[in-house]
Amino acid sequence: MARKIEKTRYEGGREGALTTLGGVLLALGIIGLIAGVVLASSRGAWAEGGSSWVWVSIGGASLIWGIVMFALLGAAAEAIRLLKKMVGMQYAGEISEGKPYKVLVCSACGKPPVKHEEHYAQGDFRKALTAAKKCENCGATFDDQ
Ligand SMILES: [Zn+2]
Repeated sequence: MARKIEKTRYEGGREGALTTLGGVLLALGIIGLIAGVVLASSRGAWAEGGSSWVWVSIGGASLIWGIVMFALLGAAAEAIRLLKKMVGMQYAGEISEGKPYKVLVCSACGKPPVKHEEHYAQGDFRKALTAAKKCENCGATFDDQ
């Protein structure tokens, strides 16, 4: 049985401001793309000799800029969170973590026992990894099959 407990969370700080700013810039980028498409359509610009590609390009560049700023400001905010965590300060937001996954590697050389490129093109990379009797990198034989 679980119970509800009170937990202190933090908000604000420079890291919170950077995260918010990144979200705002991403939203502006999306708005810029929509505005570019609307401007391209509303001026009869799709006709021959029109300037539709200019408006769509400006909109696309706006979206790319928004995505890049969102990623960079998010990374800067995370760096601040990590620094604050290292010195024991409280920080706003969450520190991201990667998801673990399992792969088969050779215990002798630490590399996948089959060449990735050859089997990946054939679409049987995972099956080839499981079925491998010998490491294609170092030549070690597997006795656990
Ligand atoms: Zn090996």
